[in-house]
Amino acid sequence: MTTSTLPISFEFFPAKTAEGAKKLEITASQLAENKPEFFSVTYGAGGSTRDRTLETVTGLSQVTGVSTVPHLSCIGDTRQELRALLKQYQQLGINRLVALRGDRPSGMGGFHGELQYANELVSFIREETGDHFILEVAAYPESHPQAQNFEQDLLNFKRKVDAGANSAITQYFFSAEAYFYFRDRATALGIEIPIVPGIMPITNYTRLARFSDACGAEIPRWIRKQLEAYGDDVQSIRQFGEEVITKLCERLVADGVPGLHFYTLNQAAATQTICQNLKL
Ligand code: FAD
Repeated sequence: MTTSTLPISFEFFPAKTAEGAKKLEITASQLAENKPEFFSVTYGAGGSTRDRTLETVTGLSQVTGVSTVPHLSCIGDTRQELRALLKQYQQLGINRLVALRGDRPSGMGGFHGELQYANELVSFIREETGDHFILEVAAYPESHPQAQNFEQDLLNFKRKVDAGANSAITQYFFSAEAYFYFRDRATALGIEIPIVPGIMPITNYTRLARFSDACGAEIPRWIRKQLEAYGDDVQSIRQFGEEVITKLCERLVADGVPGLHFYTLNQAAATQTICQNLKL
């Protein structure tokens, strides 16, 4: 596959204000020029962004004409709430979902939904809606932070595939080897669905370090040291980040990955530069 035909997708989160929503439309319109296969919009666990996710999905698809798909997490929602939302999505003509467990928001320590893990959500969606939705699930080349170990996490991934997932998007990573190892081990288990690398552009070291600690993505020492050394020099961080992520993507593409999914953090510039560097 040449890079110009490689499927790409861009992830956003719902804005909190009307001004943020307007800015997001501009960001999405700029990224739409890259002809993505789809945009996706995150969902706060426990339904905390239920309405905003829906509004963002419908708004962005109207403004940009790009198919826009909601994420759906099950950790704090009841079956009834999930059923109602699935129905609403079907009525709106949405035919793809990113199905997740989600993370319990802080302050909701004792709160549980009826479904505990993403494989149960995938099964539930299949029971309720058959083959209506293309289902994306999450995969973790460097293991999910709560996983007992790599093997258990891989088996969990297989449970989601066996439950009916069509495709996977990975947590972001900076080590191509971690992705290749995970993909090859998944293939050896008989998993055939596409495992699309999730790509995180580097633009802000403090934020990246915080995210990476929380989600278990490792920032290699040589990248960390370089970013630390740049301090407040935003320009150098951006330039270095674009170079590192472009090279990572080039390695992945050369190895035949089935697509690239960019965590845009609602910003167009860094993602846009990387796409241009890759001639996507
Ligand atoms: P699961 O696949 O259920 O796995 C969660 C943990 O439980 C893993 O450690 C797994 O090994 C373990 N596990 C699974 N099944 C079992 C079992 N039967 N017994 C014991 N252990 C088990 N979060 C949001 O809140 N909203 C979003 O929109 C969102 N979008 C995301 C998009 C992508 C592409 C990715 C990679 C992550 C996203 N996340 C989002 C974060 C995600 O919700 C968290 O990583 C969450 O902690 C795990 O979700 P999951 O679907 O991978 O869970």
